[in-house]
Amino acid sequence: MTAVLEANDVSRLFEVRRGMFRKKRTLHAVNGIDLAIQAGEVLGIVGESGCGKSTLAKILLGLLPPSEGRVRYGGRDLTELDRFAVAKLVQPVFQDPYSSLNPRRRIAAIVGFPLDVHGIGTKAERRRMVSAIMERVGLPSHFAERYPNELSGGQRQRVAIARALVMNPKIVVCDEPTSALDVSVQSQILNLLLELRKDLDVTLVFISHDLGVVEHIATRVAVMYLGRIVELAPTHELFADPKHPYTRALLSSILTPEPGLGIPETGLGEAYPDPLNPPSGCRFHPRCRQRFAPCDTQAPRPLLASGHMTECHLHDPQIDGSLPQKDAYP
Ligand code: SF4
Ligand code: MG
Repeated sequence: MTAVLEANDVSRLFEVRRGMFRKKRTLHAVNGIDLAIQAGEVLGIVGESGCGKSTLAKILLGLLPPSEGRVRYGGRDLTELDRFAVAKLVQPVFQDPYSSLNPRRRIAAIVGFPLDVHGIGTKAERRRMVSAIMERVGLPSHFAERYPNELSGGQRQRVAIARALVMNPKIVVCDEPTSALDVSVQSQILNLLLELRKDLDVTLVFISHDLGVVEHIATRVAVMYLGRIVELAPTHELFADPKHPYTRALLSSILTPEPGLGIPETGLGEAYPDPLNPPSGCRFHPRCRQRFAPCDTQAPRPLLASGHMTECHLHDPQIDGSLPQKDAYP
């Protein structure tokens, strides 16, 4: 497989003001990420809110320049490409189909907007392209003249998907595309995305806080924690043999409890840390059940073994695994 988009050591910092004295602080929303998105894959990016996954999405979409590092397409920096080249490469589908569609435009105008902006085709050609993609995503042709508020949440998300696909991009980055939808509508949209990916030969990046959803759709999964990818593996392998304690904790939290056994053990005792004040060493250590001597002072390095990357001292042959365990959190 070849990489369609590559992120090398990408970081994104934000200056924020916090506290009584509005002191300026630096937030590392994304912190040194390496990622090669392979043609034809569905890359799931999963993590709790605040982990930096939406920031990473915006960087991959060319909507936000990285503070450090580079995102490259075919050897060229994403920031060097013109808007048309970026639009042909990568398109977004955002979480909220209520706010991401202009309420004053008709559906056909919304779907055709990227074609208008980039001056693609004649008016008649654009109309044909719009009706073809609307049909492909399951929107009846008479919806063309309607407004977003006349459509259901699922229908609006189909509009957002049609708008993303009308440019025939190589990659679609979906940021929580089903989170605002009812469960039954969610699975329709997921299945639609899977069909489209096959039929239209598009690569998907699918961002979600929900590991169950990601398992359904992704071929490879990246688990993010406080701005870092802490584990990355083919989906079946990540679920069969999760290596990072955080991934294991996330997985155990999606298991259905057996009747009578109560709430499943999540393994995540402490609250998500403040991204403005990340823990030292391994950023997961305050919540980790397996933390041991080096964890609170030394940051783990990425370790790659047959396509499975994890960032945890437990798997590092250079770290003495027999060092004593730290007190587990309460
Ligand atoms: Fe837990 Fe230590 Fe591994 Fe971090 S490096 S996940 S604290 S065992
Ligand atoms: Mg988000």
